[in-house]
Amino acid sequence: MYRYTKYRKEGNIVSIPLQEIQKYLLKNHVKPSFPRLKVFEYLATNASHPTVDDIYRALVVEIPTLSKTTIYNTLDLFLRANVIRAVTIDGNELRYDVDITDHGHFKCERCNSIYEFDIDPDALSASDLDGFEVRERNVYYRGICPKCRAEEKAPEFSASGAKEESSDRSAPTPAAYGA
Ligand SMILES: [Zn+2]
Ligand SMILES: [Zn+2]
Repeated sequence: MYRYTKYRKEGNIVSIPLQEIQKYLLKNHVKPSFPRLKVFEYLATNASHPTVDDIYRALVVEIPTLSKTTIYNTLDLFLRANVIRAVTIDGNELRYDVDITDHGHFKCERCNSIYEFDIDPDALSASDLDGFEVRERNVYYRGICPKCRAEEKAPEFSASGAKEESSDRSAPTPAAYGA
Protein backbone atom coordinates (compact mmCIF):
# COMPACT_ATOMS: atom_id res chain seq x y z
CA MET A 1 0.00 0.00 0.00
CA TYR A 2 2.61 2.47 1.06
CA ARG A 3 5.90 2.36 -0.71
CA TYR A 4 8.03 4.80 1.30
CA THR A 5 8.11 2.36 4.16
CA LYS A 6 10.68 0.28 2.33
CA TYR A 7 13.18 3.11 2.31
CA ARG A 8 12.82 3.47 6.03
CA LYS A 9 13.16 -0.18 6.93
CA GLU A 10 16.41 -0.40 5.02
CA GLY A 11 18.02 2.23 7.20
CA ASN A 12 18.06 5.87 8.05
CA ILE A 13 20.46 7.29 5.52
CA VAL A 14 18.53 6.65 2.36
CA SER A 15 17.55 9.56 0.20
CA ILE A 16 14.34 9.68 -1.75
CA PRO A 17 14.12 11.84 -4.86
CA LEU A 18 12.08 14.89 -3.88
CA GLN A 19 10.23 14.57 -7.18
CA GLU A 20 8.92 11.22 -6.06
CA ILE A 21 7.61 12.71 -2.81
CA GLN A 22 6.17 15.61 -4.76
CA LYS A 23 4.17 13.21 -6.90
CA TYR A 24 3.00 11.27 -3.88
CA LEU A 25 1.82 14.39 -2.06
CA LEU A 26 0.07 15.76 -5.14
CA LYS A 27 -1.70 12.46 -5.61
CA ASN A 28 -2.98 12.86 -2.05
CA HIS A 29 -4.06 16.46 -2.62
CA VAL A 30 -1.27 18.07 -0.62
CA LYS A 31 0.39 21.08 -2.24
CA PRO A 32 4.07 20.16 -2.14
CA SER A 33 5.84 23.25 -0.82
CA PHE A 34 9.53 22.89 -0.03
CA PRO A 35 9.12 22.62 3.78
CA ARG A 36 6.39 20.01 3.29
CA LEU A 37 8.62 17.98 1.00
CA LYS A 38 11.43 18.13 3.53
CA VAL A 39 9.22 17.17 6.47
CA PHE A 40 7.86 14.21 4.55
CA GLU A 41 11.32 13.21 3.40
CA TYR A 42 12.54 13.25 6.99
CA LEU A 43 9.65 11.09 8.16
CA ALA A 44 10.13 8.66 5.31
CA THR A 45 13.85 8.20 5.86
CA ASN A 46 13.93 8.02 9.66
CA ALA A 47 12.77 4.88 11.34
CA SER A 48 12.59 6.50 14.75
CA HIS A 49 8.97 7.70 14.59
CA PRO A 50 10.16 11.25 15.17
CA THR A 51 8.56 13.87 17.36
CA VAL A 52 8.01 17.48 16.28
CA ASP A 53 11.21 18.41 18.13
CA ASP A 54 13.20 15.75 16.27
CA ILE A 55 11.93 17.02 12.93
CA TYR A 56 12.57 20.63 13.85
CA ARG A 57 16.12 20.02 15.04
CA ALA A 58 16.98 18.03 11.93
CA LEU A 59 15.53 20.43 9.39
CA VAL A 60 16.22 23.88 10.83
CA VAL A 61 19.87 23.46 9.84
CA GLU A 62 18.90 23.37 6.19
CA ILE A 63 15.84 25.64 6.41
CA PRO A 64 16.67 28.37 8.96
CA THR A 65 13.31 30.06 8.41
CA LEU A 66 11.45 26.94 9.49
CA SER A 67 9.31 27.27 12.62
CA LYS A 68 7.73 24.64 14.82
CA THR A 69 4.35 26.07 13.91
CA THR A 70 5.03 25.29 10.26
CA ILE A 71 5.92 21.74 11.23
CA TYR A 72 2.77 21.36 13.34
CA ASN A 73 0.63 22.70 10.52
CA THR A 74 2.37 20.48 7.99
CA LEU A 75 1.89 17.37 10.12
CA ASP A 76 -1.71 18.30 10.69
CA LEU A 77 -2.23 18.57 6.96
CA PHE A 78 -0.48 15.24 6.37
CA LEU A 79 -2.70 13.61 8.98
CA ARG A 80 -5.84 14.93 7.34
CA ALA A 81 -4.58 13.79 3.93
CA ASN A 82 -3.90 10.38 5.48
CA VAL A 83 -0.28 10.22 4.32
CA ILE A 84 1.01 9.84 7.89
CA ARG A 85 -0.24 8.55 11.21
CA ALA A 86 0.20 9.87 14.71
CA VAL A 87 1.62 7.43 17.22
CA THR A 88 1.12 7.91 20.96
CA ILE A 89 2.81 5.26 23.02
CA ASP A 90 3.43 7.51 25.98
CA GLY A 91 0.61 9.92 26.61
CA ASN A 92 2.95 12.89 26.58
CA GLU A 93 4.86 12.04 23.44
CA LEU A 94 3.29 12.37 20.03
CA ARG A 95 5.26 10.75 17.23
CA TYR A 96 4.69 10.51 13.52
CA ASP A 97 4.77 7.57 11.19
CA VAL A 98 4.72 7.38 7.40
CA ASP A 99 3.64 3.77 7.57
CA ILE A 100 -0.13 4.13 7.41
CA THR A 101 -0.84 0.41 7.34
CA ASP A 102 -1.99 -1.30 10.55
CA HIS A 103 1.08 -2.39 12.47
CA GLY A 104 2.14 -2.73 16.07
CA HIS A 105 4.68 -0.67 18.00
CA PHE A 106 6.89 -1.85 20.80
CA LYS A 107 8.61 0.72 22.96
CA CYS A 108 11.64 -0.31 24.96
CA GLU A 109 11.56 1.23 28.44
CA ARG A 110 15.34 1.17 28.70
CA CYS A 111 16.63 2.60 25.43
CA ASN A 112 13.35 4.24 24.29
CA SER A 113 13.69 2.62 20.87
CA ILE A 114 10.49 1.92 19.01
CA TYR A 115 10.20 -1.34 17.14
CA GLU A 116 7.53 -2.14 14.60
CA PHE A 117 5.90 -5.49 14.17
CA ASP A 118 3.32 -6.91 11.84
CA ILE A 119 -0.13 -7.58 13.17
CA ASP A 120 -3.16 -9.18 11.66
CA PRO A 121 -5.77 -6.51 12.33
CA ASP A 122 -8.58 -8.89 11.45
CA ALA A 123 -7.46 -11.21 14.23
CA LEU A 124 -8.13 -8.47 16.78
CA SER A 125 -11.56 -9.20 18.10
CA ALA A 126 -13.70 -6.17 18.83
CA SER A 127 -17.17 -7.62 18.81
CA ASP A 128 -18.37 -4.97 21.26
CA LEU A 129 -17.93 -2.43 18.47
CA ASP A 130 -20.65 -3.78 16.23
CA GLY A 131 -22.10 -0.86 14.37
CA PHE A 132 -19.06 1.36 14.92
CA GLU A 133 -16.98 2.59 12.02
CA VAL A 134 -13.37 1.76 12.94
CA ARG A 135 -10.90 4.03 11.15
CA GLU A 136 -7.69 3.22 12.93
CA ARG A 137 -6.38 0.40 15.10
CA ASN A 138 -3.36 0.79 17.34
CA VAL A 139 -1.43 -1.93 19.07
CA TYR A 140 1.18 -0.78 21.57
CA TYR A 141 3.49 -2.97 23.54
CA ARG A 142 6.02 -1.84 26.11
CA GLY A 143 8.85 -3.69 27.70
CA ILE A 144 12.55 -4.39 27.29
CA CYS A 145 14.04 -5.05 23.86
CA PRO A 146 16.37 -8.03 23.24
CA LYS A 147 19.40 -5.75 23.01
CA CYS A 148 18.80 -4.26 26.46
CA ARG A 149 17.88 -7.66 27.90
CA ALA A 150 21.19 -9.07 26.72
CA GLU A 151 23.04 -6.22 28.39
CA GLU A 152 21.06 -6.72 31.58
CA LYS A 153 21.66 -10.46 31.77
CA ALA A 154 25.35 -10.39 31.01
CA PRO A 155 26.85 -7.11 32.19
CA GLU A 156 30.34 -8.58 31.89
CA PHE A 157 29.86 -8.64 28.13
CA SER A 158 29.75 -4.88 27.92
CA ALA A 159 32.90 -4.65 30.02
CA SER A 160 34.64 -7.52 28.31
CA GLY A 161 37.50 -5.34 27.13
CA ALA A 162 38.37 -4.30 30.68
CA LYS A 163 37.96 -7.84 31.96
CA GLU A 164 40.39 -9.24 29.43
CA GLU A 165 42.96 -6.70 30.43
CA SER A 166 42.69 -7.48 34.11
CA SER A 167 42.84 -11.23 33.52
CA ASP A 168 46.07 -10.91 31.56
CA ARG A 169 48.06 -11.62 34.70
CA SER A 170 46.69 -15.12 35.22
CA ALA A 171 45.83 -16.15 31.68
CA PRO A 172 48.57 -17.12 29.30
CA THR A 173 49.32 -14.38 26.82
CA PRO A 174 49.13 -15.21 23.11
CA ALA A 175 52.91 -15.04 23.06
CA ALA A 176 53.11 -17.95 25.52
CA TYR A 177 51.46 -20.20 22.94
CA GLY A 178 53.82 -19.25 20.21
CA ALA A 179 57.37 -20.59 19.60
ZN1 LIG B 1 5.28 2.55 12.87
ZN1 LIG C 1 16.12 -1.37 24.46
